[in-house]
Amino acid sequence: MEQIKTIQDLINCYKKLPSIGYKTAERLAYATLSLSPSDREEFIQAFTDANEKVKCCPNCGTFFDDVCPICSDPNRDTSTILVVADSKDILSIEKTNGYKGLYFTLKGTLSPLKNKTPETIAIPDLKKKVEQENVKEIILALPTDLEGETTALYIASLYKNNPSVHVSKLANGIPIGTNLEYLDNLTITSSIRGRISLKEGDNKNE
Ligand SMILES: [Zn+2]
Repeated sequence: MEQIKTIQDLINCYKKLPSIGYKTAERLAYATLSLSPSDREEFIQAFTDANEKVKCCPNCGTFFDDVCPICSDPNRDTSTILVVADSKDILSIEKTNGYKGLYFTLKGTLSPLKNKTPETIAIPDLKKKVEQENVKEIILALPTDLEGETTALYIASLYKNNPSVHVSKLANGIPIGTNLEYLDNLTITSSIRGRISLKEGDNKNE
């Protein structure tokens, strides 16, 4: 017997989510169908609300449902910008309460094999923001894999001859391949405090 089309459509939707393969998508689809009518209604309502009300800040990439809580905060230090590759990392850093600057979310990291060029990951927008906001320091909180490191070095190279913009990255101690969401607040806070300068002859730590 073949999968009926409505269930297949549901499986295909689940498959669009990261780290979900066909088998898991199939399991989730059947689990959804087995929910009680009131749970299913709750599911639909939450999804509809998220779809209609949650917006992504064009400035920093944070999700919000009214005004961006970060960009609208007058107490933020606009001379520092922390760059992430995934907007969910902003929440991990915000939870520590240890960072009061602005954010910028890249659309991924540089990868020639996946056709991810500086233009496709919004590096020109980052450059524009740094100029417009008169940013003095860029802190890179990018993934600790090869693509993240390549992206960090590329961004650092853009400001190599610009003495007014410091570029640093989070301190070592974050295991390679670990996402910020899995780290505790103390590790994140100390990796921001102990950030490493990516500019030669420049040691800008707090
Ligand atoms: Zn914002």
